[in-house]
Amino acid sequence: MLLLTYILVGVVPLVLFTNTIFRTMNEYFVEERKKELLNQANILSGKISASHYLYDTKKRNEFDEEIRITSNQGNFRVLVIDASGIVVNDSSRQDIGKTYLVQEVIEALDNKDVSRQQEDGVIYATVSILDEYSNKIGVVLISALSDDVSATVGEIRNQSNLLLAVITIVVAILMYFATKIFIEPIKKVLSVIIKMSEGHFDQRIEIKGIRHNEIADLAFACNNMAEKLEQVDTSRQNFVSNVSHELKTPLSSIKVLSESILLQENVPQEMYVEFLGDIISEVDRMTEIINDLLTLVKLDQKEVPILFTETELNKLVIDIVKRMKPLANEKKIVLHYTFLKEAILADIDKTKFVLAISNLVENAIKYTAEGGSVTITIDSDHQNAFLSVADTGIGIAEDEINKIFERFYRVDKTRNRETGGTGLGLSITHSTILMHNGSIKVTSKEQEGTTFLVRIPLRQTA
Ligand code: ADP
Repeated sequence: MLLLTYILVGVVPLVLFTNTIFRTMNEYFVEERKKELLNQANILSGKISASHYLYDTKKRNEFDEEIRITSNQGNFRVLVIDASGIVVNDSSRQDIGKTYLVQEVIEALDNKDVSRQQEDGVIYATVSILDEYSNKIGVVLISALSDDVSATVGEIRNQSNLLLAVITIVVAILMYFATKIFIEPIKKVLSVIIKMSEGHFDQRIEIKGIRHNEIADLAFACNNMAEKLEQVDTSRQNFVSNVSHELKTPLSSIKVLSESILLQENVPQEMYVEFLGDIISEVDRMTEIINDLLTLVKLDQKEVPILFTETELNKLVIDIVKRMKPLANEKKIVLHYTFLKEAILADIDKTKFVLAISNLVENAIKYTAEGGSVTITIDSDHQNAFLSVADTGIGIAEDEINKIFERFYRVDKTRNRETGGTGLGLSITHSTILMHNGSIKVTSKEQEGTTFLVRIPLRQTA
């Protein structure tokens, strides 16, 4: 493709251009030659009439000599023709005595000096000879092959053609290597992108062989993109399989519970009550999972627009604590707050933010043993508000810390089933804080406790 472009854009116009130049050059030289021949013919005709050469036979020999010399010097043939068309002198001695009535001679006798190139390339120049009474007594005809003109132009042309050919070949070779260096890697990148678009996200471009920097960058960016796509793809697959799994468990419990009542005869009343109670709690669990999922999906799709209003965070925390107090009391956990600054005002979406922080507090109570404590601290600088939820609970192992924000991720699956978590709470919190343009960090030590630190900007720009 590159080669074709090169031929079209480079070689073809160049060849056309040089051709035109040589044609013009040739024409120019022929024109010059015509003028020169006409000039010579004029000089000779002048001399012939001045010295009555045509009538004075004594002077003929003298003129014969002069004509031969002139013709030799100028590399042309001179014919002197009388008014009846008979050749009286010929520098080549071939046609003396013959009748020579070509078009140019007739025109010259008609008093029109002519210089013209014939089809066979020969240039004719004819000038009439006048006597002292201005009678036309003959014609001087000079003919010259245009070969010497063409030969000169042809010579230059050959040389320039050779040069052109050499340049074309050299550039073609360079192009070939340039194609190898630039196009091959691009082709590689392209083929991988095509495979990716077909859904093969495991494809990677080998960067090692690529010498060119920009293309290596492109390959690198493509690989990065592939990695991200692969991650999205896996997390989507995991998400779907997690959802199915999470919903399947309560469903099979419900099935087992109902079957065991159905298959037994004379089921005692208490068993009914107990099993139905269990079934209800499984249904509750499913509802909880589905509600959390819906919340997450809505956050993801940004379906519910985020509505920032200036809110006093201290009051907000007091409300959350008030609502969580019964839960903490149940486990004899001390739940308290510390305000390092009074009246911290921040732009938040109240409903979403309360849910996010409540999740953290609920977790803190959930994963702290009886008699522990949970502390909420609020602080701010001139740009950000900082809110931390610290507990004295079971903590999170170091290698689990990075995973807890993943959907459905739970450190201890069995225990969590008892505590009733869905594994979606922290994902919701994380998404919400990101929507507030903030960040969330965790520090934790197993058996000592966990601290979640949330930072959000005080002002949200539109
Ligand atoms: P869950 O509904 O299971 O609590 P989350 O997304 O809220 O789901 O939390 C994910 C996991 O992170 C929990 O299952 C738990 O193992 C761990 N975790 C969250 N908060 C704490 C905490 N304060 N202390 C210890 N572990 C925690």
